[in-house]
Parts: sequence; C-alpha cells; structure tokens
Amino acid sequence: MTQQVPVQRLALRGDLLDFMSTPAWGAEDDAAVRFRPDHWLLIENGRIVGAQPEDPDPSWQREDHAGRLILPGFIDTHVHCPQLDVIASYGSELLDWLNRYTFPAERRYADPAVAQAGAERFLDALLAHGTTSAVVFPTVHKGSAEALFESARARGMRLVAGKVLMDRHAPDGLRDDVAQAERDCIDLISRFHGKDRLAYAVTVRFAPTSTPEQLAMAGALCKADPTLYMQTHVAENRAEVEWVAKLFPHARSYLDVYAREGLLHPRAVLAHGIWLDEADRRVLAETGAQVAFCPSSNLFLGSGLFDWPAARQAGFRVSAASDVGGGTSLSMQRTLADGYKVQALNGQRLSAWVALHAATRGAAEALGLGAEIGSFDVGSVADVCVWDWAQGPVAQVRDALARTPHERVFAWLTLSDERNLRAAYVAGQARVVA
Ligand SMILES: [Zn+2]
Repeated sequence: MTQQVPVQRLALRGDLLDFMSTPAWGAEDDAAVRFRPDHWLLIENGRIVGAQPEDPDPSWQREDHAGRLILPGFIDTHVHCPQLDVIASYGSELLDWLNRYTFPAERRYADPAVAQAGAERFLDALLAHGTTSAVVFPTVHKGSAEALFESARARGMRLVAGKVLMDRHAPDGLRDDVAQAERDCIDLISRFHGKDRLAYAVTVRFAPTSTPEQLAMAGALCKADPTLYMQTHVAENRAEVEWVAKLFPHARSYLDVYAREGLLHPRAVLAHGIWLDEADRRVLAETGAQVAFCPSSNLFLGSGLFDWPAARQAGFRVSAASDVGGGTSLSMQRTLADGYKVQALNGQRLSAWVALHAATRGAAEALGLGAEIGSFDVGSVADVCVWDWAQGPVAQVRDALARTPHERVFAWLTLSDERNLRAAYVAGQARVVA
C-alpha cells in the first residue's frame, strides 16, 4: 500500500507584481514588468504553480488580500547580523565607525548565547521587513555563523553566510589566524553548504583586515569548490581606498587585491563599489562578480555615490542591499528610496522597476538562484510578501491619485516601509501575519 501525502494548496489574492526579465534603465512602461492586478497566486507544497484571475476551487485554502500588493520576498544581498545592535550610531565615517561602534558590538558575539539570540532577533527582523532571503555577515566567531545557519534553517529561509575572516587590524577577541580559520571554514562548509536552503560564503571582511596569506587561503577555498559564494567589501570610502593602496602596493587597485587571489567569480558579492575605475568595472563584468549597492549606508556614512549607469554600461550585475548597521533600516523600500536619491544626486533617475528588480529577480539571478527565488515563475519557492498599498491618509490620497502602474509603485516604494507588511510566507508557510 502506498501512503497518500496530502497536497497543501494555498491561494493568495491580490495585485501580483514581479519581473520576467531585466527592466531597461529609466523606462516607466516596460515589458519586463509582470503586473497582474486582482489575481490569485497558486502555491502547492511550498512552490508556485500558477496565477489566475478566477477564484480557485474549494480544494485551495484561500487567503483574500484583494486591494493589496503581492511581491516576491525581498532579497538583501549585504547585511550584518551583529550590527543590528549598533544601527543609527552617530558621527563617523567608515574606519572610525568600525572601531567605535562595530567592533565592540561584534566582540560580544564570542558568547554563543549572545550569538544565538542575536541570530534569531536578526532573522525575525528581516522577515518582519519583508526580506525572506539574505547574504549575511555574522562575526569572526565560528559560533556566530553556526547560530545564523541553524536559525535560518529553523525558519526555512534561503541564507548565504560564512564566518568572517580577519587576522589583522582588528582588536583582541576579533582576530582569527589562517590555520584555524581554514579549519573552521572547512567544517562549516561540510555541515551547512548546500544543505536545506543554506549556502556558504567565504567571507573576507575587507582587504585591510586579512593578511595576504589569509586572502590566499580564501582564494584557495573558492578555487577548490566553485559552488561556494564569496562576500566582502570594496571601494566604499576614500580613506579606506588609500589605506588599501598602502597595504597592497603591488595591486593595481583595491579590487585587484581580490582579483589576484581568485576571489572574483560569478558567486562573489562585493558591497559598495563606489570608488572603482573603468578597468575595475571591466574586471567585474569579466569575472561575473556582482556589486551590492547599499545607498542608505553610503549616505549615512558619507561614503559616496555609486554610479549604477556605469555598471550597466560595463555589464556587471548590481543588487540592492541594506548594509545594516551602516544602513539605517532593514526595509528594502527605504533602501531603494535612498537609492533613488543617490542616483538623483548623480543626475540620474532610478525607476521603481529597476529598483524593485534589484531586490527581487535581479538579486536572485546575480546569486545564481533565479530558479528558486525572486519571482512568481512556476516552480519557484513560494517566498511571498503581502503589502498594503498605503498606510495613513497622506499615502492613501497619493495612492488614489496615481495614474499609471509605475507612478503607483514608485509612490509606494517611496512612502512605505515595514509597517505596510501584512503577511510574509517562506516556502508557502506563513512566518509573519500582521
Ligand atoms: Zn557591510
């Protein structure tokens, strides 16, 4: 006798918005946009199986969000779990900010109980902001990576993370060494990489905090297994760029420090990339590495204005990221609204489509996860968020006056935040119900 496993069928009604391809820069009317007002999104056993305007039959559990916006769960491609504790810290630029606020906060994660509570608080906060997948920095402590992976697994989330590598220019309690770091990475990779929805990223904090020997070890890990991710920071701040030039006099540029060690590849995520030149941009395009654009952080720390059109011109991928705690909110709407302002300061206009794509399908594709997350394509895992179009009288009047889909979505992006979230589903399971 075969045992019948009951099929779980969930149907969500609302205004479905996702992307079928990459929107053109600045276009308000774009065939890449798939906007299906008042449709049912059909989910079977945690995966998307279709969408239709007609009411589904009674075999479907129905959740009626008519008049609300339904999006794929957001993907935050660069965010620091322990820095949630020092978000909104006053008065400094990158290097001073690291020493005054960030390193002391990260040192507390040596305590496994602090790391565990921090990981759970952080992932619940991501979900409460409509972010269902993330590429995350824990701390140098192996236990902080374990806590993050285990907590993501318990929530069914897609997570890319790895123990932070730093063996110099960091205070006591926040340094590893090459041999121990390598052993820790190998153990974590064997236990978590490719398991459930987890993936390991070789995590170089940034060039100044790793010796050349540690960078070589990190590069060797990437070369040994091309399915591994790599995450780091590059060219965020001018003082940092000058410091890297002194520390690595043989490198052509900051980016070249990583290129020489084999750390740039299609699964590499580099935060910021503000102070790059044309040769750097070519290298990013050739290696398939992506830049995580972190506008809120870049404004808050006064780091600079990322040139997104130049990235498009060069042909490398760009995703959007909060970079909390340099960034001031886990909300991807707030992040993207800041992205619009950064591009405006560069004399450019960031459309709502390009912005949203970079936090959904674009981020997923840049991570090689386009078949799993980021869209409502049939077969995708049902990571889905339901949003109010407007909260409060100001946003409600603005929403009612919008004439085109782009105008409406742009106003939503600019005026909304986590308070608009009504529900978040991870693999078809409700994780947040507001
Ligand atoms: Zn960062």
